[in-house]
Amino acid sequence: MSNDWNTRTKLVHAGTRRSQYNEVSEAIFLTQGFVYDSAEAAEARFVEAGPDEFIYARYGNPTVAMFEERIAALEGAEDAFATASGMAAVNGALTSLLKAGDHVVAARALFGSCLYILEDVLPRFGVEVSFVDGTNLAEWEAALRPDTKAVFFEAIANPTLEVVDLEAVCKLAHGVGATVVVDNVFATPVFSRAIQQGADVVVYSATKHIDGQGRAMGGVILGSREFIRKTVEPYMKHTGGSMSPFTAWVMLKGLETIDLRVRAQAASALAISEALDGAGKLSKVIFPGHAKHPQNALVQRQMGKGGTVVSLEMEGGQAAAFRFMNALKIVLISNNLGDAKSIITHPATTTHQRLSDDQRATLGITPGLLRLSVGIEDTDDLISDLRQALAAV
Ligand SMILES: *Cc1c(COP(=O)(O)O)cnc(C)c1O
Repeated sequence: MSNDWNTRTKLVHAGTRRSQYNEVSEAIFLTQGFVYDSAEAAEARFVEAGPDEFIYARYGNPTVAMFEERIAALEGAEDAFATASGMAAVNGALTSLLKAGDHVVAARALFGSCLYILEDVLPRFGVEVSFVDGTNLAEWEAALRPDTKAVFFEAIANPTLEVVDLEAVCKLAHGVGATVVVDNVFATPVFSRAIQQGADVVVYSATKHIDGQGRAMGGVILGSREFIRKTVEPYMKHTGGSMSPFTAWVMLKGLETIDLRVRAQAASALAISEALDGAGKLSKVIFPGHAKHPQNALVQRQMGKGGTVVSLEMEGGQAAAFRFMNALKIVLISNNLGDAKSIITHPATTTHQRLSDDQRATLGITPGLLRLSVGIEDTDDLISDLRQALAAV
């Protein structure tokens, strides 16, 4: 790869390895193992594997390496480790880094499974976790301590779309020597500048925009070469959360088109948030890219675009929200996001059902709240579908 290539060129060509057949489309190296020329060669590789030498697919694989190199080029990270799911990435990034006695500060507004790791799993192994309102810098400052080892947050919170000031939180965290781990799914790898803005480690669920076509589960941990190879890799390769070669191929092909898809989705999401702003029966239209979002200035500075998810709050609570969902003809009722197909979710009864009523109220997850992941369908068709469903409520 040439370092002066622009993003779209990198997304099509970075990381490519060709076999002796010189194939155009990346090969799927669907193999668990690799043959050595001699016993001595096997021994040497176990002592130290070179950059393009592989041992066992749980440790690494050529198709997986292509994906890792391509996503690292997009994010502007030194290196990446691909994982079996987004949660394997979150768990791997945190567990490989932490030990008993460490302290972590995390934003309270988290994806349900991330909350499970921070609230249930880490404390069982002697890690103390303090939760803060991610948008409140004074709370971050008060919670950070000299023994704080890591900081964890979603740069845009699911599903209320509040934005964490990444640069400011990184500065505070680095002041006490903590490693900043950002779950950046909602910002998307296309609009993320998290590494340049100070994040040490960025994790993605590749299940979302990277696949972008609803096919496979995957994830990735990005960071410095030192962190990925010395901290993450030993943990992941021995605990079994690596990405499969077939999944890596699906994700590689997803990366080829991610810039085109996500930019179209983000433009559509903005148009939808503008079209629905002030519409009857909606008490709120939340989109970080909308001029009226309370943190729009921060969004412009941090990502430039507001992402691909719009949250809506219906007047009339759950009953109205369900009637609206059931009246949609194009938008699908499901719980993924970042897909080419537009998808609507009712967080209070699905993705955030596990939380107590109090927790949901604190996070602003009201009975009328809906999360709309905007796909790549025609924008006018989506707006018409949403309007006719509103009229049917
Ligand atoms: C989906 C998601 C995850 C988990 O990813 P999986 O691929 O489903 O394991 C983690 N964090 C955020 C913000 C997500 O949206």
